[in-house]
Amino acid sequence: MQDVIVVGAGPAGNNAALSLASQGYGVTVIDSRENIGDKLCTGLVGEECFRRYPIDPGLVYRDISAASVIAPSSEVVRFETPSPVARVVNRVAYVSSFADRATEAGAEYRLGHRVVRLDQCKDRVSVVTESGTTDARSLVLATGFGSQLNRQLGLGEPSDYVVGVQALVQTDGVDEVEVYLGRDVAPGFFAWLVPTQPGYALAGLLVRKNAPERFANFVSARQMEGKITELVDKPSCWGIPLRPLRKTYANRVVVVGDAAGHVKPTTGGGIFYSLMASEVASETLQQALREDQLSANRLATYQKEWKSLLSNELEVGYSARRVFEFLGDSHISSLICQAGKNGFVSELAASPDVFFDWHSSMIGKIMGHPTLGSVLRLVNPLLARMAKPSGPTEIFVPEPAEEFSPEASMAETGTPV
Ligand SMILES: Cc1cc2nc3c(=O)[nH]c(=O)nc-3n(C[C@H](O)[C@H](O)[C@H](O)COP(=O)(O)OP(=O)(O)OC[C@H]3O[C@@H](n4cnc5c(N)ncnc54)[C@H](O)[C@@H]3O)c2cc1C
Repeated sequence: MQDVIVVGAGPAGNNAALSLASQGYGVTVIDSRENIGDKLCTGLVGEECFRRYPIDPGLVYRDISAASVIAPSSEVVRFETPSPVARVVNRVAYVSSFADRATEAGAEYRLGHRVVRLDQCKDRVSVVTESGTTDARSLVLATGFGSQLNRQLGLGEPSDYVVGVQALVQTDGVDEVEVYLGRDVAPGFFAWLVPTQPGYALAGLLVRKNAPERFANFVSARQMEGKITELVDKPSCWGIPLRPLRKTYANRVVVVGDAAGHVKPTTGGGIFYSLMASEVASETLQQALREDQLSANRLATYQKEWKSLLSNELEVGYSARRVFEFLGDSHISSLICQAGKNGFVSELAASPDVFFDWHSSMIGKIMGHPTLGSVLRLVNPLLARMAKPSGPTEIFVPEPAEEFSPEASMAETGTPV
């Protein structure tokens, strides 16, 4: 019997396998895909992630130190940082590099096997695939978005999600990340062009409804502008959780990564949080395996620890996301325009406590901005309390925002899923 079975060889599963196998535990990783890491993703990862989980420089397509945000009014605001804040990587190769190191450390990989059932017994977990059953003392469930296995264990599923759609395109003159906002493009969310290798970019968007139609419109608008010259592959869709599972552990089981909802709700980026959460899971499991104490009560420590690391970000980020979904196009355009004025964007970009992967302090700064904050505070006073502005606290009396009406905006959107 193995010490641990990891189901899912994405960033979360591979990193858990690497860390457990490196400590001498017997680990088997099972994934239904043959090609590790080949899952819909843009591969945009922040600098902190690379410092903690380094990557072969040969796998980096681009360093990112500038991005343009295109408002619904077509106004463009450009962010630029003195040094790169993120990189666009070959996602498949990056995720596989964790699996390669886990294999070197002794983990066994079984690819092309779908897990169809999990049986929790008193002294083991049985993992059933179409080709047989494997037993282990414990299980890391890292199956990504939409797995039925969470539900089978009685852990439910993340209560909110969004759909991502993306395809590789050929481009002309797209050398920086471009982010598009507005109800015509991606209501409540955003669309992107992220350049990869010269002449190519990943085009995509996040949306609650009608993802393929929205994507087709986005691509044809960029084709009319001459930015996209050709669609290289067919667009694909995949879900992204926006809220964490209420319970991410059970007897002998921990749930990590997208399966647990370890994703930034602001942008849908989940690689870094998955990697960090898998490390926390591995530390808890190692201790529990040593003590042979694998009850749900014992593994509850895992949830306590990942929450102390990520919970504030997930909560503040989700509130900010919901506020953003309430805003109509005129409000978004006016916020973007205000942000571009008086050097606020440059101030944000240069601020030492604004990070690519930690958004609560940036949300705090925006809430503290005289004009931007007053609009947003009207929508969600709770967010204002959660996202404490950094720097000297000042008492601020908000001016009433012009023509702002959350109800009207909500009517425009319809009730989100
Ligand atoms: C369009 C789009 C763009 C994105 N862009 C970014 C980005 O730029 N940066 C970023 O940080 N994040 C991005 N994300 C999110 C990111 O891809 C995920 O957060 C990340 O992959 C989560 O890792 P994971 O290991 O939890 O799950 P996954 O990477 O989804 O891996 C789960 C694995 O489990 C396997 N599996 C599932 N069920 C079973 C089963 N029953 N049996 C066996 N195996 C199973 C799957 O085959 C898969 O390999 C994007 C997501 C989307 C949809």
